[in-house]
Amino acid sequence: MIVAEDMYELGSKRSAIRELFEYGKQRAAVVGAENVYDFSLGNPTVPAPDCVNEKIRDLTRTLDSISLHGYTSAQGDVETRQSIADYLNKTYGTKFHADNFYMTMGAAASLSICFRALTTSAEDEFIAIAPFFPEYRVFVEANGAKFVVVPPQTSDFQIDFDAMEKAVNAHTKGIIINSPNNPSGAVYSEETIKQLAELLRKKEKEFGTEIFILADEPYREIVYDGVQVPYVTKYYDNTLVCYSYSKSLSLPGERIGYVLVPDEVAESKAVYAAVAGAGRALGYVCAPSMFQKVVASCVGQTGDVEMYKKNRDLLYDGLTKIGFTCFKPQGAFYLFMKALEPDADAFCEKAKEEDLLIVSATGFGCPGYVRISYCVDYDMICRSFAAFERLYKKYEQ
Ligand code: PLP
Repeated sequence: MIVAEDMYELGSKRSAIRELFEYGKQRAAVVGAENVYDFSLGNPTVPAPDCVNEKIRDLTRTLDSISLHGYTSAQGDVETRQSIADYLNKTYGTKFHADNFYMTMGAAASLSICFRALTTSAEDEFIAIAPFFPEYRVFVEANGAKFVVVPPQTSDFQIDFDAMEKAVNAHTKGIIINSPNNPSGAVYSEETIKQLAELLRKKEKEFGTEIFILADEPYREIVYDGVQVPYVTKYYDNTLVCYSYSKSLSLPGERIGYVLVPDEVAESKAVYAAVAGAGRALGYVCAPSMFQKVVASCVGQTGDVEMYKKNRDLLYDGLTKIGFTCFKPQGAFYLFMKALEPDADAFCEKAKEEDLLIVSATGFGCPGYVRISYCVDYDMICRSFAAFERLYKKYEQ
């Protein structure tokens, strides 16, 4: 083969979620879009807050082409990085400054950069906690490290600390945490974060190593019922935050986010330099200029989270009423539901027969569950219940 086999493999098959989404479009052409209930993708449906479009209009009216569309410095505009630091400091009582931030093209880039920056040997390991975003495996392995999974704690989707303790070893470079979580909708409690921090400090001492938490936080602001999302850097020094505006500002196609390397991180200057180096090596220097400026103005704002909450309540109440077992999401916009047979892939195929497009969680490391993405039209959820009822009845016989 004249190309890298692993890259060929990745590029030749679509992700299961994308596959389902494409199927939905084909099916809509046959039976009508109103008869397909597509819960596959995590594409925000809530519009970007007004400040986003206002700022874009303002920028295009007032700035010359180079100021608006030209390259920024590799790590991003200092004004943008400072305004993010100011917002976080005001909100969480932290002490960040502009030079703690490296602007990127969203959380996917931030994660890839961190894995590349931290990997020093092919034996290095990054641990994900099931259920996890499946692309983590791709990013970790593509950057030369090993991907390790801690099994899910399905009672509450917090962390199974016995399993975590067994998984951490002298090769562990980092633990990826994602809270609010895609796909479970769980938010890690302060108790969970404290316990994780304590365990990792103990393991760092035992092995004489540095173990990083990589906090993947695209859903930080999308939470319900006043639930608090602890700011992880306050609990554990070796924390790198991978943030994205894809979900909070509903800007997934604009590709904007950052890596945060706090001063408290071990050898923080070296870690920041390696992050910048990985950004360079992976071709991620200079995040989109215009959206850096948008973010500088709109940091701290979100789309209308109440709309997601309305969808969550409708879906959770409707499905549990039918008889399904669901975890009530505390954040993000995914509902995690138990399949009605052990093989969640087979269950999703049966759902497909009713034109219900839901995603098996086997690929998320959590067999027997499905993910239902509710960043969708409210009316579609209303219309879908008859199909969910038919699906449920299939298993009653
Ligand atoms: N991490 C999680 C948990 C996600 O759900 C997503 C996107 O859905 C990403 C990372 C990637 O986000 P981005 O669009 O910022 O690259």
